[in-house]
Amino acid sequence: MPRIRPTRPQMEILAWLAIFVLLFWLSWSFHWHEDLDEFIERHHDYPLDHALLALNISGFLGLIYSALRILDLSREVHRRLQAEKNVDWIACHDTLTELPNRRFLDSLCAQAMIDQRAHETYAVFSIDLDGFKKVNDLLGHDHGDAVLKTVAQRLSSLFPRDRVFRLGGDEFVVLARRSGNSEPVALGNRIVSVIGKPFTFNGVAADLGASVGFALYPENGDDLRQVIRHSDCAMYVAKKQGRNLVKPFVASMQDEMTKRIRVEADLRSAIKKAEIFPYYQPLVDLKTNKIIGFEALARWKTASGEFIPPNEFIPVAEEAGLIVDLTDQLLRRACTDALSWPNDLVLSFNLSPIQLSDRLLGLRILKILGDVGLPTHRVELEVTESAIIQDAVTARIVLDDLVNAGVRIALDDFGTGYSSLSQLSSYRFDKIKIDRSFVSSFETNDKQDKVIKAIIALGAGLGVTITAEGIEEESQLQRLQDLGCHIGQGYLLGRPAPLEELTADKAGVKVSQRR
Ligand code: C2E
Ligand code: CA
Ligand code: CA
Repeated sequence: MPRIRPTRPQMEILAWLAIFVLLFWLSWSFHWHEDLDEFIERHHDYPLDHALLALNISGFLGLIYSALRILDLSREVHRRLQAEKNVDWIACHDTLTELPNRRFLDSLCAQAMIDQRAHETYAVFSIDLDGFKKVNDLLGHDHGDAVLKTVAQRLSSLFPRDRVFRLGGDEFVVLARRSGNSEPVALGNRIVSVIGKPFTFNGVAADLGASVGFALYPENGDDLRQVIRHSDCAMYVAKKQGRNLVKPFVASMQDEMTKRIRVEADLRSAIKKAEIFPYYQPLVDLKTNKIIGFEALARWKTASGEFIPPNEFIPVAEEAGLIVDLTDQLLRRACTDALSWPNDLVLSFNLSPIQLSDRLLGLRILKILGDVGLPTHRVELEVTESAIIQDAVTARIVLDDLVNAGVRIALDDFGTGYSSLSQLSSYRFDKIKIDRSFVSSFETNDKQDKVIKAIIALGAGLGVTITAEGIEEESQLQRLQDLGCHIGQGYLLGRPAPLEELTADKAGVKVSQRR
């Protein structure tokens, strides 16, 4: 049976009652009332009976008054306790999904460290939604909120006896107590499958995925905090490898994470110190042999003089949210450099896929061109197929902003994606760049030769300029010229070089140097 403890006001009322009963009992036992009667009899000339009656009545009224005040006080105390409880709840919960938050999880970890009696074993699942940003961007924040609430409900029903946390954004953690028959991989897959069920709000459907990483306590760490960090690490690896994956934590992931954190910190500082700058590789008209422009290729020269290739640091910049600052810096620099070239030379600049899901990208680029004073017709932006597939609606808005302002768009690495042709039919590009992999092998491979021929014919049919990348051999150049390819790029025609080294002997153009 649960023990009922009286509240403080109740205790006070009980104490007063006890005093009253005690006085009553004393007066009864020692015959005080008889003594009082006698006293009144003896002094009947004084109005003592009236005075006593008045005293009784005022005492009784006083008792009622005190009881009412005590009740008031009790209500006030109750209200304050409730308010304090609400403040505590808000501090430890996410108000949207009503799930406990990171602070709650932190205090639970601290408690688990103190509480040596608890010999619980846990499987910690870190979950990140795949495609949530798209739902938010395309369908609005109300839908985004509804998705988060539904995910919270689905996870809570999947783990009715365990704790589900929302750590912020689209990140969730489940602290699942392990019982004999709960296999973590199977549980991870169930998380993926419940989140993978379609979401429908106001008749609009949205599909999401989940990347799940898990780590076990105590096998993967002595304290729960460390295990959560490890499951997070596993989730990061799962996310990197694709959608809807479940990854258990393994020790090597930690090294990878540590390395990434170091590269990220170095990159942050390199951007601050403007240590990343563009090199320029010539784009040559294959009919006239003249340079028609340069492609800007990012180079990171570290303090030790080592060059880190863009394929290594651009993805880190994307993941760490540094790509916007990096691009702004590089583009500003490249546009300034391009002002020192002859007026008819174009600047070709690469955009990474993730950037095309940023609606404001087009306007930001146009602002940089305006600030620097480089006319839009001298700028060409290179985008890849994957950039357009990732978030087709936003990509179109961004590209439209740019095209309407006079910037040209090139489809880069053509032929390496899986929907090249559908991209061509859905969007009007000014240029197609045949990927290096076709050019490097087409002389020895009859099929590649046919593919290149077909791409050039396609370009002619669509009225789109064709560029071939990665020309290293004279024979490749010759064949491409014979096939009627418009523009060439590659080590044979010119390696990427810093502004100071830009000469265009082949084309008879000497690029002026301002710096
Ligand atoms: P990409 O746009 O396909 O650039 C062409 C890459 O091929 C460049 O590598 C270039 O140096 C290399 N290349 C050029 N000619 C030849 C050749 O004849 N033979 C061989 N083997 N390679 C050749 P890089 O500079 O390392 O750039 C790699 C990729 O990094 C680029 O591929 C581009 O996707 C990305 N990237 C470079 N700069 C930027 C940038 O500023 N922003 C973004 N978002 N991405 C960039
Ligand atoms: Ca490119
Ligand atoms: Ca390319």
